[in-house]
Amino acid sequence: MKCHSHAVDAIGVCAYCGRGVCANCAAASADVPRLVCSTACATALTRADKAMASILRKSEQSARASSYYSYLCAALSTGGAIGAVYYLPHPYLIAFTSACALIFLASGYWYGRIARKQSI
Ligand SMILES: [Zn+2]
Ligand SMILES: [Zn+2]
Repeated sequence: MKCHSHAVDAIGVCAYCGRGVCANCAAASADVPRLVCSTACATALTRADKAMASILRKSEQSARASSYYSYLCAALSTGGAIGAVYYLPHPYLIAFTSACALIFLASGYWYGRIARKQSI
């Protein structure tokens, strides 16, 4: 493969547009951690990276929020189950609130795991 702007062999391809990049071009964009063909591609790549990072951060935050919310619902359901045992000892009601508590607990754990995985 040849460089897109010089008549020499490319040492790699641009990380943004995929065109051939020679040693000269690579040296011109040395301040970028990845191989790019031009400053325009370097800028675009940095912008794309930032956008991706902010999307990941947002989904990590929402997963963490969902996790807290699930744990909160689990706590409420547990309280409901305990209350049902004392005030309304109906087997279905107790079974239902206990099941809800378990489901919320499981989803809270699951969302927590997603949040941890994305923060790495
Ligand atoms: Zn490029
Ligand atoms: Zn070149």
